[in-house]
Amino acid sequence: MFGLIKGMGITLKNLAKPKVTYKYPHEPLEMPDRYRGIQHFDPEKCIVCNQCARICPTDCITLTGKKHPDPNKKGKIIDTYDINFEICILCDLCTEVCPTEAIIMTSNFELATYSRDDLFKNMKWLHENDQNIRQDNISSKPKPGGNQA
Ligand code: SF4
Ligand code: SF4
Repeated sequence: MFGLIKGMGITLKNLAKPKVTYKYPHEPLEMPDRYRGIQHFDPEKCIVCNQCARICPTDCITLTGKKHPDPNKKGKIIDTYDINFEICILCDLCTEVCPTEAIIMTSNFELATYSRDDLFKNMKWLHENDQNIRQDNISSKPKPGGNQA
């Protein structure tokens, strides 16, 4: 009997406390701004310098460039840009090294799928992944010193 009363006391005490659980996935989880989530890619900002692919510890970025369509402009524009999320460890190095903020982190994290093929994300998909972009990156200007490849 004493055990029952003691248990009820604990239950009543905790009823008034704020909830520490979420109704995920019915309610979206809000992650902190510095969360390392799935990248957003902006083809307009990419200067095809290759720095993101070079620094990637798992070699999961594949990109190709093509000649700038405007003959008066030097350098390349991006043609294809893919990330293999089977092996991306969301380490943030690609976004840290990008001189133009073409690739930036979001706080999105949902990648669960039934097919491994679905984990290859192309330029269009990465560009459309434009929600919950890290605010730090939105306000920052392109950094000087980006090399053209
Ligand atoms: S987050 Fe890390 S592992 Fe993923 S693409 Fe960028 S550098 Fe590579
Ligand atoms: S580091 Fe940035 S600008 Fe350079 S290729 Fe990668 S995404 Fe493009």
